Amino acid sequence: MSSTILLRVCWCLPLVAMPIILFGQGMDPTIRTGATVQVSDHVYYIPDESRPLVPNVGIVVGSDATLVIDSGLGLENGTIVLAEAQALSQGALFYVAATHTHPEHDLGAMAFPENAVVVRSASQEMDIEEFGMGLAERFATFSARTAALLDGAYIRESDMVFDGEHTLDLGGVHVHLLEAGPAHTRGDLAFLVVEDSVLFTGDVVMNEFPNPMSPTSSIDRWLERLDELEALKPKMVIPCHYPIGGIEMIGNYRRYFLAVKEKTLALAENDLPRDAIMETVQEEIAAMFGDFHAPQRIRTAVGVVLRERQP
Ligand SMILES: [Zn+2]
Repeated sequence: MSSTILLRVCWCLPLVAMPIILFGQGMDPTIRTGATVQVSDHVYYIPDESRPLVPNVGIVVGSDATLVIDSGLGLENGTIVLAEAQALSQGALFYVAATHTHPEHDLGAMAFPENAVVVRSASQEMDIEEFGMGLAERFATFSARTAALLDGAYIRESDMVFDGEHTLDLGGVHVHLLEAGPAHTRGDLAFLVVEDSVLFTGDVVMNEFPNPMSPTSSIDRWLERLDELEALKPKMVIPCHYPIGGIEMIGNYRRYFLAVKEKTLALAENDLPRDAIMETVQEEIAAMFGDFHAPQRIRTAVGVVLRERQP
């Protein structure tokens, strides 16, 4: 595996075990200026180019308001995102939201004007209350550049908090926000741009192995969420990291989690030690999903299945 691939896939590993040396001096999670792409009538995004600590930024433009989904790591990135959104916007009002409250998704909100409306779910508020800036402090140790981007960064207060689901009317286009956790985090959010049938899935559906990163992560709940997202029948799926795709991405994740669960429970039934279960399942599942990188994430999923297993 090349160092480029390691860089690309390792940023979201459980950070305690993260080999810091991989991040090196050069890690630069700056969102590209002028790289915004239109994908449907009202939806634009800034591709992450699969770079660590960079999100796929969503921009949904209505006649009255613009919604930004995932604002980047800190003030400088948020300023870039705001400028890209301002160049497209038709109305003066901005909504800012995040697919979850990890730093590169939420901390760019500080760059937005005071009258921008920061929207979060109740679960995201709980994540902020519990974890605060802890992950940002660790990201700041990755390189001089991440430290600079996070210098002075803070979590902007919510202007609107909803429970379960909420619909934003941007003028000629509606965005349906749905709680989609606890999966990658407790506060995962999905966004359906109703008129365009474009679904932003955060880390809940991606074109790489998923990472159940929170103590609240649940594979059972994740599987239920996949059913809910698939029922929306999106024409396009935009994850918050890695390349975009279609509805088949949701089916891939269902196949993945069902296989991890089935293999893990079968081995646990035979009283195999935890490490042996993790090793066997990782090997078998990695072979099934040859296009995905970072197979060590499979172990994390196995750990969650074992935690959730009925005694
Ligand atoms: Zn994350």
